[in-house]
Order: sequence, then C-alpha cells, then structure tokens
Amino acid sequence: MSTRPSDKALHRTVATNVLVIGSGAAGLRAAIAAHEAGCDVVVIGKRQAKDAHTVLAAGGINAALATVDRADSWEQHFADTVREGYFLSDPRTVELMAREAPAAVLELAEWGAPFARTPQGTLDQRFFGAHTYRRTCYAGDFTGRAVLHALVDRAAALRIPIHEHQYVWRLLVHDGQCFGAAAFDLHTGERTVYQADAVVLCTGGHTRLWRRSSSRRDENTGDGLYLALQAGAALTDMELVQFHPTGMLVPEEIAGTLVTEAVRGEGGRLFNAMGERFMARYDPERMELSTRDRVALANYTEILEGRGGPHGGVFLDVTHIGRDAIIQKLPRMYRQFLEWQMLDISTQPMEVAPTAHYSMGGIVVDPDSHGTAVRGLYAAGEVAAGLHGANRLGGNSLAETVVFGRRAGEHAAAHSHSLGAQPRSQRAIGAAHQDLDSLLKEGTELARPLQRALRNTMWADCGVVRTETRLRSALSRIRELQDSARRLDVRPSSEGFGDLAHALDLRASLVAAEATVIGALSRTESRGAHQRADYPELDPDLRVNLRISRSTGGTLVVESRPAPETPAYLHKRITETRAVSVAGRLLE
Ligand SMILES: Cc1cc2nc3c(=O)[nH]c(=O)nc-3n(C[C@H](O)[C@H](O)[C@H](O)COP(=O)(O)OP(=O)(O)OC[C@H]3O[C@@H](n4cnc5c(N)ncnc54)[C@H](O)[C@@H]3O)c2cc1C
Repeated sequence: MSTRPSDKALHRTVATNVLVIGSGAAGLRAAIAAHEAGCDVVVIGKRQAKDAHTVLAAGGINAALATVDRADSWEQHFADTVREGYFLSDPRTVELMAREAPAAVLELAEWGAPFARTPQGTLDQRFFGAHTYRRTCYAGDFTGRAVLHALVDRAAALRIPIHEHQYVWRLLVHDGQCFGAAAFDLHTGERTVYQADAVVLCTGGHTRLWRRSSSRRDENTGDGLYLALQAGAALTDMELVQFHPTGMLVPEEIAGTLVTEAVRGEGGRLFNAMGERFMARYDPERMELSTRDRVALANYTEILEGRGGPHGGVFLDVTHIGRDAIIQKLPRMYRQFLEWQMLDISTQPMEVAPTAHYSMGGIVVDPDSHGTAVRGLYAAGEVAAGLHGANRLGGNSLAETVVFGRRAGEHAAAHSHSLGAQPRSQRAIGAAHQDLDSLLKEGTELARPLQRALRNTMWADCGVVRTETRLRSALSRIRELQDSARRLDVRPSSEGFGDLAHALDLRASLVAAEATVIGALSRTESRGAHQRADYPELDPDLRVNLRISRSTGGTLVVESRPAPETPAYLHKRITETRAVSVAGRLLE
C-alpha cells in the first residue's frame, strides 16, 4: 500500500491490490483471504470496525457439523435451504455454502470465536426454524459479535489496515473495469481516492428503508446496491425482503429491534390476545419453528384480524423455560427487555410484530467467484444475491458471509495477480469529484425528513402484504421524493459531514426502493416473503429471478429469467426432506 498527496491536492490517494468496502463479516473474511493470497489489502467502512452491522447478529451460524444430530449432512442443509427458499436460489451457490460452512465455522472457532460447546467439547448446535436438524452454532445470543470480533482480531494479527468512518460515494470504473472507489472522511470531509486492481463490495442490505427495521440508524441504506448499479452491475430479486416475525414494538425509537429466532429455537411459544397458540392453525407440524415467512404472515394476520395485544403485536412467551436457561442462552434478550420495557421475560411474555430484516435479493454474482458483470468488481455477504431464494433460513446469512467472503477475496486476489497493467482513469476520478460537488449546495429540503417519508411509504405500501394499487402508490411517492431530493440542502457543519452522508444514504435508498417496488409489481404471485393480496397463490410459471439493471437512459429495467434447475442427485434429497424433517424434530 502507498499513500501520496494527489497532484491537484483535491484528495489523497491510497493504492493497493485489493480494496474491500465494508468491515462486516463478509468484508473481513474477504480481506483475510486476499491477504493470504499474497495481496496488499485495505478495508474501508463507514462505521467503526468492531461496530459493523454484523455485530447485531444474534442467534447463530449454520454448518452441518452433525455434532448434535448425527444424521445431518451438507446435502440435507442444501435441501432445506433450496426447498424453503421456494426454489428461487441458485443451486450452485447453495451447494457451496452447505459444503463449505463446516470448515468456515471451525476456522472461526480456531480464530477465537467463543462458540458454545457440548460436554464432549465439540461445537454445540441449536434448532433454528425450518432446519431438519440442529445445525446452528452459537455464542449465547451474541453470535455476530463473537464472529466479528474474531475476524477483526485475525485481520489485526495479519496487519490488514481498516480505515474507519470512510463513506464510499462512487466506484471508479474505466472501460468496463473497476479500479477503486472514492470515499470521504465522515468527520473531516477529506476525500480519498482508493486505487485498486480489484474491489470487493460487502456493504450489507437495504432493510433500513422500512419504518420498522431490525437495523440501526444510518446502516443498511442500500449503498452497495446503488454503487453496483451505477457501475454497470445488475441486481436481482429485490422484492424478496425478509420480514422477521418478531420485532419489538415499544418504545417507538427502537420499534423493529429484533427479538432473535433463538427465542423460538429455545422453545418460545406464540399466543394471540385470546390466549390461543395460533401457529397450530398456520403450520401445525412445525408450530413456532416454521419458516420465517409463514410465522411473519401468521403474526401479521392475527394482528390485522384484531387478535393483537395493546401495542398491536402478538405475544412470545418463554416463561416456561426458566430464568436460569434464559439468562444462559438468551442473555441479550433478557437485558434488552429489562432495559427498554422494564419487563422480565422469565415471568412475562414479550409483545412482538414483524420487522424488515434481511435483503434476499441483491447484486448478481457468479456463484463460484462472486464476481459481478463489471471486471474486477466482486460482491459478498448480504449485498449479493443467489443463496436465499424467497425465504432465508435463520443462521444461513452468517454462513454466507464467511464462505463467500473468502471466495470473493481469493478471486479478487487472483484477478489482481493476473493483471499486466493497472487500469486508471483521471476522467473517472474527475467525474466522481463532480458528482460529490454537485450535492454540496444550498437547498430547500433536508435529507432526514425525506428518508422518514420513504420509510413510512415502504412500510405502508410495500410491506408484509402487498397489492398492485399500493405498490403503484409507493412508486409514485418514491418518484416525488426523488424530485424533492434534487433540492437538498447539504452543507458541512462543525459536527462533520453527516449531512452529506445522509444525502448519499437517501440517494441510494431511493434507488434501492424503486428497484424493490418495480420487482414487487412484476412478481404477480405470492411466494415466500413476497405476499400479494391480489395474487394470493404461488404461480409455478414464476419460478424466475427478476433482474434489474440501468438502461443507457438511466431508468431501471426489469428482466425475467428462469431460476436455475437443481441437479438431479440433489433434487432427490429435497423431495425426501418432508419425511426427514418430521422425524428429525423427534430427535429433540
Ligand atoms: C438484529 C439482527 C440479527 C441477526 N441475526 C442473525 C443470525 O443470528 N444469524 C445469521 O446468519 N444472520 C443474522 N442476521 C443477518 C446478518 O447479521 C447479516 O446479514 C450479516 O451480518 C451481513 O454481513 P455483511 O458482512 O454482509 O454486511 P454488514 O455487517 O452489514 O457490513 C456492512 C459494512 O459495509 C459498510 N458500508 C455500507 N455502506 C458503505 C458505504 N457507502 N461506504 C463505506 N462503507 C459502507 C458498513 O459500514 C459495514 O462495515 C441478523 C441481522 C440482524 C439485523
């Protein structure tokens, strides 16, 4: 890595072989892989390294290690994932995740992630919804923190630099090849042009676009989706957004905060206000451990039909588990409810409702390399598509970050080694500066209220259940907000460049929202997380992926492609899964 002042003193320049954007689990795993492949690597992120969004992950990470349920296998993990994703996943992506997750999780344990262990010393595994066997490794209910900190420590041991508080506003592309990114410091505004042979985008999802969301402020605003589209890559299945069934409702400032699936994994039961254990009506076999889409729709329906509690939620009860088990296995949940509601979950039920949680769609990538349509540009983690289909199984996302983070890092390094000369373009760098300069101006609108309006629109009109009328209303509101966003007032203040970051968050969010609504309008069926009241049935002819790209005129265009077929030898396991699933539950 070398640093030098630029000729025009407009920015500083940092040159490296592989640039990783995002310091969550996917980004750090990519950086470690690229470093181990002999490359200089720099990681940048808009928050502190140990506070990337991954830190929120709670319940666990999947790997068919069969330490608890001996019959488990990577093939069964594959079958559960494809089947519960309603056959929209890319089978090769799922196969790689299921095959490689065991080694990836053992490696994390070796690097210091403090996963729970069985009395025999092997990694313990818990049930997560719709998995045939117990295959979710965990560290209490702070698994994400355990994984992230192990990766940060590993990156530090390898002396991989992590540049914090760097906001990337543009990928640098010349002649179809990505050669870096432009970022500014959130505190000082100093601009840095990161020049690199290859770039790995690991910027997370876009679920902060909904009013109730399990993400925190200023994260998951769809930045990577915007950057990739703008650079010439394509998105797919943006309408497939997972609503987690159980988010907190009060107080308002934390509405949507996750109540982890581990609560149901540890035996939590759902009741409506009449005291009925209503999952018996929606999925009598799997009850609370049904898939997230089914439990979310069940909760939504109970609330909509007037069987909700005082805050408009249903009740999640763990009082029968006992205080000691709760404190040992669900310590964060215990604290979360005491702190925010003064509620002791060992004696009283929690009131919960669906919350926007995970982006199953994202950037189109090659399953093996996670390369995009732009040469030298890779993507991994939540920002990439292909693994989850129409419904993500809990615990698969953390597995995805480390399996495909490593793959993307290795392929980015191989791309760097293969280059004879590094492509660079002053014109592309100049255009990036102009882009940012054009935002810094006086205006009549502020980003925060527009972002709030967008979140309300997405919640009301593109939420758990959708209709054409509401989606059309969402689209026209988004277009109005895009118009208002042209009149933003953006000025640096004594507190830093937060205004500029909010303006960029809004720009990305509006594009991600538009892509989501366009996808939702095109998918005229109900499948997994995408529920249409006007098309309540699954349409077998719509086993398609909906790809979105920018036309030369700049508008978003959608194209339907048949979802890839599962190889015959794996398909057999899927058809057998139902029987195994029921037998598997008896092992508990
Ligand atoms: C509350 C909660 C609980 C969860 N629990 C689980 C679980 O138990 N098991 C599981 O498998 N999954 C879980 N998930 C999902 C999982 O945590 C995420 O999908 C995963 O951590 C995403 O990791 P990532 O590396 O792809 O991105 P992230 O961890 O989201 O990291 C994104 C990075 O990109 C950076 N970034 C974004 N935009 C920019 C920009 N413009 N410029 C510079 N940097 C940028 C951010 O600062 C950050 O460093 C949970 C999610 C939530 C919200």
